[in-house]
Amino acid sequence: MRVLIVEDEPNLGRQLRATLEGAGYAVDLATDGEDGHYLGSTESYDAIILDLGLPEIDGLTVLDRWRKEGMKVPVLVLTARDSWSDKVAGLDAGADDYLAKPFQTEELIARLRALIRRASGNASTEMVAGDVRLDTRSGKVTLAGEPVKLTAQEYKLLSYLMHHKGKVVSRTELIEHIYDQDFDRDSNTIEVFVTRIRKKLGQDVITTIRGLGYSLEDPGA
Ligand code: CA
Repeated sequence: MRVLIVEDEPNLGRQLRATLEGAGYAVDLATDGEDGHYLGSTESYDAIILDLGLPEIDGLTVLDRWRKEGMKVPVLVLTARDSWSDKVAGLDAGADDYLAKPFQTEELIARLRALIRRASGNASTEMVAGDVRLDTRSGKVTLAGEPVKLTAQEYKLLSYLMHHKGKVVSRTELIEHIYDQDFDRDSNTIEVFVTRIRKKLGQDVITTIRGLGYSLEDPGA
């Protein structure tokens, strides 16, 4: 899962980025509205955290432009403390959730998880595919009840497929959603991660759809 943070306070931006990376997200950080708008319009994200008070273009205008462009990624707006007018304006402009500053990062992460889950049509915090379970809260994966250790990149890839269970996900889409902008992207590494995940969780967990990409088995389909 890949997240864009648009936040002009350097310390808060850096701290958020580090926290979200620690929680298993690929993260891009924009520090003004213009850069933020550009990244949100041109890159692929699973959720966006948008501060409202931004240099160049303010957050509400950025959000309004994205929505007019048809950009559908869920957006969590950061508002000034107790500013109900900010919340109303944010929701009117197309925000999916908001959080007032200052906030606990645990709450931000919980809300972000919920946004991403809802956007992909998943009701539960636990994703299941056959004997494999992925708990999005703890970041833990089990196979038939036994814990399995995945690397950060393996987890990101599996989590993305889990969120889109039953759909065919192309290699390009995977690359766009598990790496941040600065990462040296090599599509061959996707195949390597898939091979490693199969070794750990079973050959059948990920199906290769020749010429199209990958899919998680969907027993409910
Ligand atoms: Ca600000």
